[in-house]
Amino acid sequence: MDIITHTLSGVAAGTAVANFSRNGISDKTKIVLFAGFGAFIPDLDALSLWSGFDSTIGSILNLVNSGKNIYFAKLWYSHHAFMHSLPAGVFLAVLLSLLTAVLSRFGSNNNGISGKSFKEFLIRQKFIFLAFMCGYIMHLLGDLPTPSCVWGGVNMFWPLKTYVGGTGDIWWWNNYDIFIIALVVSIINCSVILTGICKTKSYKCLTLFVFTLGFFICLYQIKNRDANFNYIGHTPDYHIYEEKSKKIQKDILGEYLYNIMDKLDKKIPLYF
Ligand SMILES: [Zn+2]
Repeated sequence: MDIITHTLSGVAAGTAVANFSRNGISDKTKIVLFAGFGAFIPDLDALSLWSGFDSTIGSILNLVNSGKNIYFAKLWYSHHAFMHSLPAGVFLAVLLSLLTAVLSRFGSNNNGISGKSFKEFLIRQKFIFLAFMCGYIMHLLGDLPTPSCVWGGVNMFWPLKTYVGGTGDIWWWNNYDIFIIALVVSIINCSVILTGICKTKSYKCLTLFVFTLGFFICLYQIKNRDANFNYIGHTPDYHIYEEKSKKIQKDILGEYLYNIMDKLDKKIPLYF
């Protein structure tokens, strides 16, 4: 799945988590942003595809394989490997929590964590930790229905060698319908949070409900595409799948909405 939809799915999950925090808007915003960040991070393992990888990182680390070979291999640092696993999510969430705690302690002269113990600070961070993890998990789930390609899914339970997913229910990108659902969920939930309606006890789970509803609508959309995008290894039919995925979006969204999304896609210098 493309990085924009991944990140937005994390933001949507973050809005569900943020509503449970008793802190103010700035803390809730932080929770939502960390969830989006958590959903963005796993694809950093695609860094090896960067044109300058071999002459910089590859050269410094004296890597035998080229960046492109690393990307398509099944090494622990290849695409869809360690960074696409639950242990990596937990590791990075702990690391991030500790880092924010330490940084806040350094800046604690005025408004950091002065007067609070380190432990108390970490407990206060629990929603940020949770939101980051939720975002991370949303990314992993979003990659499960993409094609097998050379990996056969994602290495969700690293260090186990098993890769899960790779079902080919959706194409790598052009999943505008999923993007729109994540956008609508995020907008509704942000409005709920900003209007303060969530302060009422009975509305506490409202954002969680909206998110869950959006999640299942996405699942329905993913499982009901009238196509099979799966391929193993590399495919010479890349452009055929690409066209098919666009036609499916046109059928789902209708000409008008599809054209808007298509225009937006062409303006974004990323696969979307
Ligand atoms: Zn990914």
